[in-house]
Amino acid sequence: MSCRKGKSKTKPKVGAFRCAECGAFVKQKKDVCEPKKIKK
Ligand SMILES: [Zn+2]
Repeated sequence: MSCRKGKSKTKPKVGAFRCAECGAFVKQKKDVCEPKKIKK
C-alpha cells in the first residue's frame, strides 16, 4: 500500500479519489492508503 502523504496527483474532481488519511487527490484508487471516491 502506498500513500501520497498529502501530495495530490490530480485536481479534486468528481470521479477522482481522496485519501481519507492525508487528503491527497488521485485518479487511481490504489495510489492512496484510504481512498474515498469524490461525488458531486
Ligand atoms: Zn493517504
